[in-house]
Amino acid sequence: MSDLLDVAGLNAAYGASQVLHDIALRMSAGEVILLLGRNGAGKTTLMKALMGLVSLRGGSIRLNGTDIAGKQSYEIARLGIGLVPEDRRMFAHLTVAENLQLGAKPGADGRTGWNFERVFQLFPDLRNLQGRKAGNLSGGQQQMVAVARTLLGNPDLVLLDEPGEGLAPVIVEQMANQLGVLRREGLSMIISEQNLSFARKLADRAYILESGYIRHSGTLAELDANPDAWTRYIAF
Ligand code: ATP
Repeated sequence: MSDLLDVAGLNAAYGASQVLHDIALRMSAGEVILLLGRNGAGKTTLMKALMGLVSLRGGSIRLNGTDIAGKQSYEIARLGIGLVPEDRRMFAHLTVAENLQLGAKPGADGRTGWNFERVFQLFPDLRNLQGRKAGNLSGGQQQMVAVARTLLGNPDLVLLDEPGEGLAPVIVEQMANQLGVLRREGLSMIISEQNLSFARKLADRAYILESGYIRHSGTLAELDANPDAWTRYIAF
C-alpha cells in the first residue's frame, strides 16, 4: 500500500531560528500516529509545517504521492489535510452552526461524507448548542466544535494538536472515546500530546520529538521496551 504521508528531510524555522531538523515520518491510510514530546519539543511546529503555516528550509512532504511542501495552507486543506489547532480558533462571536459551516466541504470522493447529521451523531451535545455563540462555550464544548468543523472539511488526514489540553479529566476521556470512534472508522490521524495516558489507546505508532529532532519512533510496544525513550522525552 502506498503511503498517505511521507515526510523526508524536513527543516523548518521561525525567522533565523531553526526549529525542526531533518524530520522523517511516514504513515499509511487508516493509521493513527502519536507525536509525543515535552513542551517546546516542536510538535505544534511540525503540524504547522505539514499544514503550510511555517516556512520550510528544505525537505519534502508527500501527501498521497503529491509533494505539498511550499504550498499555501488553503491548497493543502483542499488536498486533504485538516488541522485542529491547539487554541481551537473559534470565531467567538459566531454561533456553533456558523463555526461548523465555515469548515464544511463536500468529500472529494464521496467516501467519508461528513455532514452536520453525522457530526451530531459523534458529538450529540453539539446538536442543542447550534444556536449558541461559540465564545460562550466551555473548553470541552469548543474542542468538540473544533474537531467537528475539521471533519466537515472531509480531510483524508486529521492533525490534532494536544486535543486534551486544558480540559477536565472526564471531558478528556470523552474526547478520547470520540477519537476512538473515528479511528475505528478508519480515519487517519496524527495526535500530538505531552503525556501518554490520553492517547496511548488510540495509536498504532508514535514518534518522539525533542528539540525539533525525532529521537525515537516505533509501535507503542517497541517504545515500551525502551523505557529510556519514555523517561527522557515524555511527561507521564
Ligand atoms: P507546546 O506543548 O508548548 O505546544 P510544542 O512541542 O508544540 O510545545 P512548539 O510550539 O512547536 O513546541 O515550539 C518549538 C520551538 O519553537 C520552541 O522552542 C518554541 O519556543 C519555538 N517557537 C514556537 N513558536 C514560535 C514563533 N512563532 N516564533 C519563534 N519561535 C517559536
